[in-house]
Amino acid sequence: MFLYNRVNKEELKKRLAEETFQRKTISFYRYHILDNPQEFRDELFRDWFPLDCFGRIYVAHEGINAQMSVPEHHWDAFVETLKNYKILQDIPIKYAIEDDGKSFYKLTIKVRPKLVADGLNDDAYDVTNVGKHLSGVEFHNYIGQEDTVVVDMRNYYESEIGHFEGAICPEADTFREELEIVTDLLEDKKDKKVLLYCTGGIRCEKASAYLKHQGFSDVNQLHGGILEYARQIKTAQLDSKFIGKNFVFDERLGESVNGEIISKCHQCGKPCDSHTNCANHGCHILFIQCPECAEKYHGCCTPECADEKMQGTGRPSDLRIGFGNSRKFRKSLSLIQAEQNKLKV
Ligand SMILES: [Zn+2]
Ligand SMILES: [Zn+2]
Repeated sequence: MFLYNRVNKEELKKRLAEETFQRKTISFYRYHILDNPQEFRDELFRDWFPLDCFGRIYVAHEGINAQMSVPEHHWDAFVETLKNYKILQDIPIKYAIEDDGKSFYKLTIKVRPKLVADGLNDDAYDVTNVGKHLSGVEFHNYIGQEDTVVVDMRNYYESEIGHFEGAICPEADTFREELEIVTDLLEDKKDKKVLLYCTGGIRCEKASAYLKHQGFSDVNQLHGGILEYARQIKTAQLDSKFIGKNFVFDERLGESVNGEIISKCHQCGKPCDSHTNCANHGCHILFIQCPECAEKYHGCCTPECADEKMQGTGRPSDLRIGFGNSRKFRKSLSLIQAEQNKLKV
């Protein structure tokens, strides 16, 4: 048996489209020290490949982080496999809100140095000394109370399209930056009740441990993240305190939590919450673009990129994922918009 996919992408996507059964889209993670991540990875592949499980799973010395889709007719068998590993026993599983089961088309399991890159040494702080876990409803009730601060631990391109009411949303492009900015911003709030949240909870697991190490006394985190929050308030029939869209890393690029649009097209400023990558292969930056601007700029982020794309001169760049450039990009765009506004007046 091969321990990697050997079928091409088009064929895999075709197979997914032709499936006649349902899939469950789930996620889970756990910090737990693994002695041999590579061996664990291979075992998981042997267990899950025959069950037609798809997804993106990361394994590291510090634990596991998985986003997957599992065929419903193999669900029980899948749950059985979890019992084979100490790290996966009784692991809390989160279910996607808007689930068409088409989020993944193959099984990818990778070994990484860390689950969440924090740019710090393993012994810089104790990742297992985490903050208090709050359920979705508990978190909901604390929001807006006196002496609490709500902090979005995601990157700015995620929080700008959706976040909790009154949350601090640092302009960070990476988790490492986020940790630095948050520590600075909350410098004089070390005695407040800190409420952290992210998409699925894994970043807060680390962030809470880091803030405790920095001397914060009351650090709390939304267990299971926004995904779990959305599920719980639906069940409890509460009005969402999360406004806008939840950015998720799969083919859907965002699922709506309460249907409100809180962000703007980066080019014309119209309400819009659809992320896209610049169509110029030499750029590929991630940004927000409305359908009208997509047509006007041929799916590109600037007139310059549109020119390069039309002339076919854009060369594939090292910056393909683009996220790292987004803050610089937003700044240059807001300058362009300010110039345009000046001209109008
Ligand atoms: Zn626009
Ligand atoms: Zn571009």
